[in-house]
Amino acid sequence: MSRGRFAPSPTGRLHVGNLRTAIAAWLFARSEGSEFLLRFEDLDRATARLEHEDGQCRDLEALGLSWDSDPIRQSDRLDRYEDALADLGRQGLTYRCWCSRREIREAASAPHMPPGHYPGTCRNLTAREVAERESSGKSPALRLRTDAPDVDIVDRVHGPHREVVDDLVLRRGDGTPAYNLVVVVDDAAQAVEEVVRADDLLSSTPRHAHLFDLLGLPRPTWAHVPLVLAPDGDRLAKRHGSVTLPDRVAVGDTPGRVVAVLAASLGLAVPEVEVMPSDLIDRFSPDQIGLAPWTLLPEGVNDRW
Ligand code: GLU
Repeated sequence: MSRGRFAPSPTGRLHVGNLRTAIAAWLFARSEGSEFLLRFEDLDRATARLEHEDGQCRDLEALGLSWDSDPIRQSDRLDRYEDALADLGRQGLTYRCWCSRREIREAASAPHMPPGHYPGTCRNLTAREVAERESSGKSPALRLRTDAPDVDIVDRVHGPHREVVDDLVLRRGDGTPAYNLVVVVDDAAQAVEEVVRADDLLSSTPRHAHLFDLLGLPRPTWAHVPLVLAPDGDRLAKRHGSVTLPDRVAVGDTPGRVVAVLAASLGLAVPEVEVMPSDLIDRFSPDQIGLAPWTLLPEGVNDRW
């Protein structure tokens, strides 16, 4: 059976942008008769907390979203990521990198590389240069060795998308495996066939496609749903006010009303009539999702919130 998933970072209650993505991901899966899985991306030890997993599950349940087996947690799976790194290492595709962010920013980028891509400083160090860096005592990051290929994907919302894949970080200097690696290992391990998430990650997806290929894993399909923006035009965040489900309930909304407003933003409902996601399965079609971000207006200014 085909599978979709939602993979939040347990850093607090889900805000309405996360909830909208969750509803969309659930509808993609359920409208195709697919299973739906949950995964907690908790590798950022500074922000991830166990209690937030519980709060996020309660938010999803309150909105009527269901999942098919116990959620998995990335911090339980570090050995899997090390296995993938070892696999890439055996293929000669990894190298250690001691560069700081500042050094990378200040280095001239190679002519064919878009700005911000890794300039390749540590790619071909001599034994002596390696010894110097090792004696600095600084722990190196691990990078993927690429030949800067153009990698193409086809997104179900955005259509064809191409990026140059540079020598991305696979494991940070502090030992934490990088998102771009773990997302690939986990989506493959959970046999996810359709990845639905917010479109701030669209530009990272060719990196994932490249890693799927290198690890000999089947690529899923991708659908990147436009972000929710705050009234100030920034990506929605907690600082923007009453943006979580408990916040909305505290100001008098019901979960059914929250679903209605979010579903209306996806062209599936009207904001005034409470609905549950299960009411939307038959109306859902990926083609209804436009490319424009959805901007929340200041509270009280329109009929949204
Ligand atoms: N953990 C990411 C987030 O909460 C989502 C990553 C993904 O869906 O691949 O934004």
